[in-house]
Amino acid sequence: MARVFNFNAGPAALPLPALERAQRELLELGSSGMSVLEHSHRGKEYEAVHDEAMALVRRLLSVPDDYHVMLLQGGASQQFAMVPMNLLPAGKSADYVLTGGWSEKALEEAKLVGTARVAATTAVDGRYTRIPTQAELDLDPAAAYVHITSNNTLFGTQWFDFPNTGDVPLVADMSSDFMWRKFDVSKFGLVYAGAQKNIGPSGIVVVLARKSLVDGGRKDIPKIFRYKTHADNKSLYNTPPTFSVYLVRNVLAWLEEQGGLDAVEKQNREKGRVLYGALDELSSFYKCPVDVGSRSLMNVVFRLPTEALEEKLIAEAKKAGMVGLKGHRAVGGIRVSTYNAVSLQAVTALAQLLRDFARANA
Ligand SMILES: *Cc1c(COP(=O)(O)O)cnc(C)c1O
Repeated sequence: MARVFNFNAGPAALPLPALERAQRELLELGSSGMSVLEHSHRGKEYEAVHDEAMALVRRLLSVPDDYHVMLLQGGASQQFAMVPMNLLPAGKSADYVLTGGWSEKALEEAKLVGTARVAATTAVDGRYTRIPTQAELDLDPAAAYVHITSNNTLFGTQWFDFPNTGDVPLVADMSSDFMWRKFDVSKFGLVYAGAQKNIGPSGIVVVLARKSLVDGGRKDIPKIFRYKTHADNKSLYNTPPTFSVYLVRNVLAWLEEQGGLDAVEKQNREKGRVLYGALDELSSFYKCPVDVGSRSLMNVVFRLPTEALEEKLIAEAKKAGMVGLKGHRAVGGIRVSTYNAVSLQAVTALAQLLRDFARANA
């Protein structure tokens, strides 16, 4: 089997060692006589995997003791609803910073739950090409929280310095850049991230939440949607997605073996340097619509002179064993997703292909 260079936006590339470990362990977890897929979520064998996954999140990010780590289902999209259901009480308003399609969706859900306002938007004709500055944020000092999307998977923009929201809790959807580097968790009230971009398979969301916010959360919502229910039960209130948790464990163990998040950040920055370097060098052929200071290191988007050339590039890349380059249908063009599991080797090979393609087709 020839594994391709996979630049999919999500579900996305997984580190080969994490998959090989799953392959080795699939039929028998430890010496338990059965697969992790067959274990009770109440048994000690599964519990060890579950605890290790949570401990790895804590360790890799140095999550402070006054934060809960939760492993939940329903995708990041369910968090669009759970955040306001828990944290937006009647009589309060929440602030949303719009930087792309996902933040728009998060705002829509909040409006169904309570009062939510736009604290800033960088949309121009429905497109987003940059992250707002602190000065552009019109923050309500009485807001229940401020919501941002740390990396905009469709439009290819990313926050590198997080906004200062004073005493108002900052909530971030980090689905597509969670653990691309270390960050200061204590600056956030709550962080959520679907695993299928940067740290695992689909079917699981990691939530980090300040304990006081969880404790003060609304009680007039169904139990299954309360953060407190899951925090109090170590994310074992009901049956968790055991195999997804297991795979996240494998990926995080691999991240730790790479030298932790500082080493991973170095690698991610180098990939960005190589890829944007090639695009800038060939800027008469490839056009990056994103402001230089907002360029995402996770999703690199650009256009070619014509859609026909974009199709041709995608076809040639496929022949060379590189897949997942088609831009999101709302944006068009090319999108290269360079999450943690995408190697520098893959990015370097793609950069070379971009050079050759521009030379042959300019
Ligand atoms: C993919 C993605 C989502 C949606 O995730 P689901 O698991 O499909 O609900 C939300 N936010 C961001 C930033 C994403 O990249």
